[in-house]
Amino acid sequence: MTDPVTLDPIAARRLDGNAAGGILAEVFAVDVTAARSRCAGCGTTSMLGGHHLYADAPALVLRCPNCTGMVLRVGSRDGRLLLDMSGSSLLEIPVPGSSVRGAATGNVTGELG
Ligand SMILES: [Zn+2]
Repeated sequence: MTDPVTLDPIAARRLDGNAAGGILAEVFAVDVTAARSRCAGCGTTSMLGGHHLYADAPALVLRCPNCTGMVLRVGSRDGRLLLDMSGSSLLEIPVPGSSVRGAATGNVTGELG
């Protein structure tokens, strides 16, 4: 009998999301205020540290300095960190000495040029 994974080349390439744990830990262990974010609303790219922060809401809310659209929200509930990045179409985080690599990564970072 043939292994179903052998018949499906996409399934053969697929890993469990836990395999990204090392890279994601590297990404989120840095100060992201130096990261550049592209606003999903107006397309403006700017440093997160230059966004407008509203800290008096139930969550921290970062808003675009150009259109004031919500870019990022951070809150916590029941011992969990909640991160809503739906207002950012791309986040570019400088990670010196990063091991992040691959064709897909190159395509994403190339968009900000
Ligand atoms: Zn904007």
